[in-house]
Amino acid sequence: MIRDNIFKVRERVDAACLRAKREPSAVTIVAVSKGRPAEQVKEALGAGILDIGENRVQEALLKYDQLRDSGLVIKWHMVGHLQTNKVKDAVRIFDLIQSVDSLRLAEEIDRQASKINKVQDILFEIKTSPEETKTGVDPDKAAEVMKEAGRLKNINVKGLMTIAPIVEDPGQARQFFRKLREISENLFGRHPETDASVLSMGMTDDFETAVEEGATMVRIGRAIFG
Ligand SMILES: *Cc1c(COP(=O)(O)O)cnc(C)c1O
Repeated sequence: MIRDNIFKVRERVDAACLRAKREPSAVTIVAVSKGRPAEQVKEALGAGILDIGENRVQEALLKYDQLRDSGLVIKWHMVGHLQTNKVKDAVRIFDLIQSVDSLRLAEEIDRQASKINKVQDILFEIKTSPEETKTGVDPDKAAEVMKEAGRLKNINVKGLMTIAPIVEDPGQARQFFRKLREISENLFGRHPETDASVLSMGMTDDFETAVEEGATMVRIGRAIFG
């Protein structure tokens, strides 16, 4: 079932690329396996997925250990809110920390990464919608945060991430995806000379709209794992 779901998601991503005249190979599917056992992660990996997303460090550590000797190639993504006291463990296992929502967190990641001689790839999470409950860097502060983060030697900013609010019709999420793309173009240029070109946006309910608006990474949980 997971295999079928992955093929269906891939087909829908490819169709959205076609509509937007984009290369399907430019969109990576991150399978978000929070709350799912390592067995199901294995199934997804067996169906061509390379990227696994988790939103809790503790849970990710467990699966990381369970799958470490499986011989499977896995890129681990942190997509949930990261607390400062979990950064040390996070930099040990994650290939990409997508949910960096403040300069302070970036500084702590830099500090912990330097201790293990790692340059940690990160995305800055941007607050593209005004809801109080949403986390992320304020768009007005993004340029300044990016400039400060540029001084940190043990992080590498690969791009931006956003979580759109829950809306009734995925079309209503389009404005938030468009906003993230515009912020990215303002920060990094339309054809970035840096490699900070990742746009992580779109989940089960809205990923096709996100791809139409330029997502290079979609984070899919329910449409894959049911
Ligand atoms: C859970 C989660 C997802 C996946 O959500 P679905 O709606 O199940 O696809 C994506 N991004 C983040 C940050 C999440 O926490």
